[in-house]
Amino acid sequence: MSLLPAGRDRQAEEAEYLAKSHKRVKRRPHAAKIMKSENFFDASRRESRDVWGEFYATEWQTPAGLIKGAELMAALRDHLAELQDEQCCYCREPLLKGGYSRPIEHVLPRSEHPRFTLHFWNLAVSCERCNRLKGKTQSETFARVLSSYPDLADFVSQYHPRLHDYDVHIKYTAIVQNGVNIPLYAGRTVHGRNLCSQFLHAAALEMTLLSPKSKFYGDVNTIQNFIVSHDEAAIDKVQAVQTALLEAMVNAATG
Ligand SMILES: [Zn+2]
Repeated sequence: MSLLPAGRDRQAEEAEYLAKSHKRVKRRPHAAKIMKSENFFDASRRESRDVWGEFYATEWQTPAGLIKGAELMAALRDHLAELQDEQCCYCREPLLKGGYSRPIEHVLPRSEHPRFTLHFWNLAVSCERCNRLKGKTQSETFARVLSSYPDLADFVSQYHPRLHDYDVHIKYTAIVQNGVNIPLYAGRTVHGRNLCSQFLHAAALEMTLLSPKSKFYGDVNTIQNFIVSHDEAAIDKVQAVQTALLEAMVNAATG
């Protein structure tokens, strides 16, 4: 099974991660052993259960000292962020330091696919904004019950930040107008267009409105409350407006 597009080597990427699986060099061989024994690369050998919290709290005694799940997650976050050039896997904004501001993102959500909660290919690093906005969207649905991680070709509608090439699917540009940085996203494929309409346009609008120089800055709390509210009817209305606004911006910027 070739999980990755041509030109990228799955085993090589896994090995590259294992070589950096702990911040302390002496602990790396032991950390790598732990991740392999946790079936981090082989979801078919895992239980279909969300083990994220449990893994975080687990500690392993090794010849190089105690290794904590939290440390393994920190090293994983650093590695993924490095693979992504320290940019959010969805909006490409620079990732800020700190666990809260660069959450590990489960591409297939933990609630729907507990088997893949601790699976190398299901994890990426996003910004807090994208993580929060994506949480409300529908992920890819599969016709069969999955025991192993789906192949690239199985993602027929959802953009997958680890498997798809960003630039093939999304056109990302930014314009600066009156000191306000306006990010613009346009989908080039069905995957990219879905990502835009699901939450990337909303993220772009939020970024623009939250820019301190924005003339909308004073009203931002009102809009923010709409976006984060659980009132589905309000979300739909706000999203219709922002999608139209951002599409107009994208058209203006890209001619
Ligand atoms: Zn983002």
